[in-house]
Amino acid sequence: MTDKITMSADKALKRLKEGNKRYMETGLSNGDVSPAIRLKTSGHGQEPFAVVVTCSDARVLPETIFSTGIGELFVIRVAGNVIDDHQLGSIEYAASHLGVKLIVIMGHTNCGAIGAAYHPDDDNKYIRFILHEIRSAIGNETDPEKACILNVKHSIEAVEESLEIQKEEHEHSLKVVGAVYHIDTGEVDFL
Ligand SMILES: [Zn+2]
Repeated sequence: MTDKITMSADKALKRLKEGNKRYMETGLSNGDVSPAIRLKTSGHGQEPFAVVVTCSDARVLPETIFSTGIGELFVIRVAGNVIDDHQLGSIEYAASHLGVKLIVIMGHTNCGAIGAAYHPDDDNKYIRFILHEIRSAIGNETDPEKACILNVKHSIEAVEESLEIQKEEHEHSLKVVGAVYHIDTGEVDFL
């Protein structure tokens, strides 16, 4: 664990909520991506205040919807926002080495990966690893929005089962929260 003074989970969550509100009000990307912040973070390193694990869907733009810029979010993207060892390793790195206190698992409405989980067609391809994970999360749930929430919760459990993360939760007030992004309205609902 780093000794860096970093933003608390509660403050980080508040900042994400405010950033999303700002995005919805303005309809614009409000994060700082200027040459100045690029040079600053290049020289002094990144100081992300949250990890966002979300889907690879091209309609989901984490930095934009939270009004964040360069150096502020540690984003992990994979279709269906599922968790495996590679995602866990990335989360551990952000928590242990960058001092991030808030981990957000963010699903989204109209997720193609969830939709694909209802169909067995691609079961002999690599996508099966993602679909099996989603199926074990959603069980017999046929409502896509409820399935999305179940899938987010399943990923939260996978993160919390990681021993290193549990240690961080106890010792350093790290929090893991779920969210659903509405691709039509731009709103993020925190669960
Ligand atoms: Zn998706």
